Amino acid sequence: MKKRNVYAAVVGGGAAGLMCAIRAAENHPDQAIVILEKADRVGKKILVTGNGRCNLSHIGADANSYHGDGSGDLINILFKKYDPDAVLSYFRTLGLLTHTDSEGRVYPLSNQASSVLDVLRMRNSQLDIETICNTDISRIQKTAEGYEIVTPELRLFAKKLVIAAGGKADYAGRNSDSRELMRSLGLSMTKLSPSLSPVSVKSELLKSLKGIRASAEASLIRDKRIIKAERGEVQFTDGALSGICIFNLSRYANRGGCEIHLNLLPDFSYEQVERELTNRFKHNASCGEVFTGMFHKNIGLALLKSCGIKPSSPCKDISLKEIKPLCRHITDWRFVCEETRDFKKAQVTAGGVRLSEIDPHTFESNRHRGLYIIGETLDIDGDCGGYNLQFAFASGMCAGDHL
Ligand SMILES: Cc1cc2nc3c(=O)[nH]c(=O)nc-3n(C[C@H](O)[C@H](O)[C@H](O)COP(=O)(O)OP(=O)(O)OC[C@H]3O[C@@H](n4cnc5c(N)ncnc54)[C@H](O)[C@@H]3O)c2cc1C
Repeated sequence: MKKRNVYAAVVGGGAAGLMCAIRAAENHPDQAIVILEKADRVGKKILVTGNGRCNLSHIGADANSYHGDGSGDLINILFKKYDPDAVLSYFRTLGLLTHTDSEGRVYPLSNQASSVLDVLRMRNSQLDIETICNTDISRIQKTAEGYEIVTPELRLFAKKLVIAAGGKADYAGRNSDSRELMRSLGLSMTKLSPSLSPVSVKSELLKSLKGIRASAEASLIRDKRIIKAERGEVQFTDGALSGICIFNLSRYANRGGCEIHLNLLPDFSYEQVERELTNRFKHNASCGEVFTGMFHKNIGLALLKSCGIKPSSPCKDISLKEIKPLCRHITDWRFVCEETRDFKKAQVTAGGVRLSEIDPHTFESNRHRGLYIIGETLDIDGDCGGYNLQFAFASGMCAGDHL
């Protein structure tokens, strides 16, 4: 078996690892830097982000859009130097042109995720960063001088080690679970759960609503308290609620023990909804017609069903007492969330290496000198909209500058 000494080894050639290796190589042009990647190519996940367009950052992103114990302090420190403007300016030096949509989401001007990966790969090769693919690192040994990494072909001795192995969120069946690796380094981790995913809910009504979308305000309720509320488009799927606003609630909802409440008319007061509905019951013949022009037909039917009203019943037979529960459903339609450990449809992982394990100014481990942990491997996850890649790139830049 071959033995090699390198200055730094980066485990994981994703967004964070590629960026980190580039910055480290720029800072140490005469030192050998190696990326060890489990897949057959680096940066594969970047290509599927943002539906193939790669929403690589979010203008104005701040601590409010990140979650995880201690994430607020970490982001405040990190974004002092590596905020979205700094990340995008650096990408500009690599040749990437971008555009920003009206919400602040940043995409490559080409609208192709491959442009982001291409500039990173080009810079990697300009800097002679070695990439070893098809190498799944599961154990690392701390030595007096640094770290020993054993692959089937190689014993690698690295003075500095970066863990950029991502999270457990699955995409296209490529599951990356770095817990074993973290355990081998004695790093403490929080429980992992899927985030930015659809939320499984218990409801018989969902079958008839499959594929339908509605704008709503979605609130996540636990112990009668609103944990988080988001407005946007909700998509009904078989057994789950989906859509960006649901994605943003999912990190809490997927842990179970809570409900999602939908307000289908968030711009109306409850009294206005009651007036509107009473009026509609006065002016329509059958109950099935009442929601015409208001909601998708199947949503109207599901609302009637959940209140025990038959669509064929004449409107004149419905009393105000029966209309009130309908108004409550429209403004506060409740779905009980199911706990899930299914990472297949999740974009990110909530949980990971505890942030208390690292120095927030450098991402170096407080436990082992010369060890850095970046990106989604850490217990920090962002909302939907470019926040996760922003963090991956920013943490990669920061660690790369301190290696
Ligand atoms: C479908 C989808 C769409 C997304 N869209 C967006 C978006 O538009 N905007 C946004 O901000 N975020 C998006 N995300 C989230 C974003 O992609 C991740 O948060 C980000 O890629 C994390 O970067 P990372 O480098 O930390 O981890 P990753 O990108 O996951 O990279 C980790 C790398 O490490 C490798 N690896 C893992 N374990 C080992 C090991 N033991 N040995 C060697 N190599 C290993 C993996 O193969 C992988 O290449 C999306 C995610 C998905 C799944």
